[in-house]
Amino acid sequence: MARINDHYLKLKAGYLFPEIGRRVTEFTQANPEAKVIRLGIGDVTRPLAPAVLNAFHQAIDDLGTTENFAGYGPEQGYAWLSQVIIDKSYRPLGVDLTTDEMFISDGSKCDCANILDIFALDNVVAIGDPVYPVYNDTNVMVGRTGEADEKGYYKGIVYMPFTADNNFVPDLPKEKVDIIYLCYPNNPTGTVATKDELKRWVDYARANDAIIFFDAAYEAFITTPGIPHSIYEIDGAKECAIEFRSFSKTAGFTGVRCGLVVIPEQLSGTTTDGEKYSINKLWKRRVTTKFNGASYPVQRAAAAVYSDEGWQQTRETIDYYMENARIIREGLQAAGIDCYGGVDAPYIWLKTPEGMSSWDFFDKLLNECHVVGTPGSGFGPSGEGYFRLSAFGGRTNVETAVQRIRKTWGK
Ligand SMILES: *Cc1c(COP(=O)(O)O)cnc(C)c1O
Repeated sequence: MARINDHYLKLKAGYLFPEIGRRVTEFTQANPEAKVIRLGIGDVTRPLAPAVLNAFHQAIDDLGTTENFAGYGPEQGYAWLSQVIIDKSYRPLGVDLTTDEMFISDGSKCDCANILDIFALDNVVAIGDPVYPVYNDTNVMVGRTGEADEKGYYKGIVYMPFTADNNFVPDLPKEKVDIIYLCYPNNPTGTVATKDELKRWVDYARANDAIIFFDAAYEAFITTPGIPHSIYEIDGAKECAIEFRSFSKTAGFTGVRCGLVVIPEQLSGTTTDGEKYSINKLWKRRVTTKFNGASYPVQRAAAAVYSDEGWQQTRETIDYYMENARIIREGLQAAGIDCYGGVDAPYIWLKTPEGMSSWDFFDKLLNECHVVGTPGSGFGPSGEGYFRLSAFGGRTNVETAVQRIRKTWGK
């Protein structure tokens, strides 16, 4: 009998998005004439930049010729891609990296999940609440946790509440933790951390021999000067942090698939015998064994994001989404609804009015405004009483949704 990994059975059934779908279907069947606007999704909607598309086409044509054909590439990604990312995206921040410190992948979700392969199960892990669910669920899958309690907290994980009370930057844990997940700009709250706030975490990690997993999927959406785009802008972070980045939101690659992991040479962990061991070396071993690289045309397309033309066009799309975010944020404020985020990230995290629950607000927004968003409680218990709207929609839909919200809330 082949036994299964029954840690998977501890997972809560994927409840949030199916439940949203069920309520929306029920509503549209009862109200077929209603024009429902969806601001719940965490997926982009604008097309690839023309310069990126060109490079993509060109690379596919390369595959059709004997001279330019590309077979297996380096497992770690082509150095011409890593180098352009380092030159265009890290060096301007004052961060120096070598291509050996960068691992190109087929997206950040897999990286955030796979990284757990190279860490022992008895590490104590700290995760935000509310949170991008991948961090939590992958720790359950590898067997690091016990069962979930009635609130949804898994035994063995240290949860760090992200709320308005702590300005969405969690307090340092009271117990000693070994691995800390931080995501800034944050999904779902759309909020950011300053250099000083990140410095506290870097100092904690160094003092406790902990490693920070820093998810910077939304760094390109930062508009406020001085907000760090990379954890390595903080002194000492190369000794204690792994950074994850993705082309998904930055350049519309959710369907194309490309991401990257940065593991500095000086980052080390400890063996059972107490010896230091290079995390970069360990991850390289894992990647060369279990991965054969992101596809050649995808890497060509990704490199074109950082060409002069490609970056200008990519920026225009980001600016388009951030203008949506401004419209949503200011519309909510005009309707007297408190909200956070939406300045340096494409998500607006609103406080539900009159103390409504996240799901009650969802129902009212759907029934009265015909607008769909995401209940904050779906991202973790501390998300209760909050609600996420995404700025990844089309302009007309965003404007119409905001008008309806202002009408319903009477302003
Ligand atoms: C969208 C997103 C990612 C990117 O995932 P990909 O697999 O690269 O598409 C990573 N982290 C967070 C928090 C996200 O919201």
